[in-house]
Amino acid sequence: MTFQNLGLSEETLKAVEDSGYTEPTPIQEQAIPVVLMGRDVLGCAQTGTGKTAGFTLPMIDMLTSGRARARMPRSLILEPTRELAAQVNENFDRYGKYHRLSTALLIGGESFVDQEKALGRGVDVLIATPGRMIDLFERGRILLSDVKVLVIDEADRMLDMGFIPDIERIVGLLPRKRQTLFFSATMPAEIRKLADNFLDDPKEIAVAPPASPAETVDQQLALVHRDDKRAALREILRSEDIENGLVFCNRKRDVDILVKSLTKHGFDASALHGDMPQFRRTETLDRFRSGELRLLVASDVAARGLDIPRVSHVFNFDVPIHAEDYVHRIGRTGRAGRPGTAITIAEPEDAFHAGRIEKLIGRDVPRRTLETVDAANWDDEPKRRRRGRTVPAERGAPAERSAAPKDRPSRRAAPPAAKERGRRAAPPVDAQHPDTAFGEHIPAFLLRPGADPDAQSA
Ligand code: AMP
Repeated sequence: MTFQNLGLSEETLKAVEDSGYTEPTPIQEQAIPVVLMGRDVLGCAQTGTGKTAGFTLPMIDMLTSGRARARMPRSLILEPTRELAAQVNENFDRYGKYHRLSTALLIGGESFVDQEKALGRGVDVLIATPGRMIDLFERGRILLSDVKVLVIDEADRMLDMGFIPDIERIVGLLPRKRQTLFFSATMPAEIRKLADNFLDDPKEIAVAPPASPAETVDQQLALVHRDDKRAALREILRSEDIENGLVFCNRKRDVDILVKSLTKHGFDASALHGDMPQFRRTETLDRFRSGELRLLVASDVAARGLDIPRVSHVFNFDVPIHAEDYVHRIGRTGRAGRPGTAITIAEPEDAFHAGRIEKLIGRDVPRRTLETVDAANWDDEPKRRRRGRTVPAERGAPAERSAAPKDRPSRRAAPPAAKERGRRAAPPVDAQHPDTAFGEHIPAFLLRPGADPDAQSA
């Protein structure tokens, strides 16, 4: 299949050729003709499948005829994060370079005045995060009655971030007669219900996730005590041949703490999270993309969907709570057949989540032992609780104990295999509050990613 068979205009095909793409990806092959026909689409596809071009390319051709009126956008694309919105905007610039389409970005963290000015000139494509979109609507700066095409991208992430009520409100403001393109990486029941409400006889398109990163990425896991995590990361950073690396933390506040610590120890690291002003985020990303900055420390939400083509290493400073996030994170390296390394730093409290990750990827992540930091064991008690007590006698079987490096005293036996952890798999107490007792039960709201403070980033 070539791009020529999909019904795109000569100008768009030329822009695609300039981008160096020779063949459409499966989602592009299926979505482009359907979108050009004017039909609704329910696409189950995640970042990395080429879905953005799957909707931007046909939209460019569809919006070529007609003119936008002031404050009345002709199409609306909703994205969960500012970075994703900015990337979609770049897509329109890149693929629409032989057309005269106007686009505007409505994202938090940037000046209202500039965004209102852009809207005032009339825009063909409005790309927005839901919060900012509602703000501008409430200020009476925007009329949505001319929107002919609506795109809801990353719907499951919108759900995680608590944006669904905003989206329902926005959709309620749009004309009923419109084309709707709805994309989500997963289709849980709530998303399916939402899609049923928003879409009219959609063509359903599902594509497999991009090639499993497990095949091209060298994965390792260092199990250490919580207090040793930073030292463990430093040792790993010093011993690896790193071109550039993404370091993931589960919480926004830990991103800043880690950056401070790394910088203090002489590493070239910067943070990326939702509380930073937009210009700083853009600047940091540009420095990382150009190779000027070596380590980018980020939370999942801030990094979601970022198109950073070459990353030699991914470090999980925290084990992600959602196993799928692990796959997303390590998928940033080892792209397009290039080798990549993903190293996870775990502490005993992560046993449950680490077990879920290994179940999802279908294999154990090989252990990485360190020279300067003692290995921990999955069933070690949190260090803080152990303090002031006699350290309990070693628990591992003798054979496991002998797996520890011989040149230094081993504090603990080697970790049990994933299967063993799986059996024991009661959720641990919240890693930030090891002394909080919920018994075997963790309230669902504590485990939900919607609780991620980055959700405010839009
Ligand atoms: P997306 O899933 O839209 O985030 O796209 C993932 C990456 O694939 C981006 O770097 C795109 O530039 C790239 N891409 C999109 N379409 C194609 C294509 N047909 N051939 C090669 N790369 C592509």
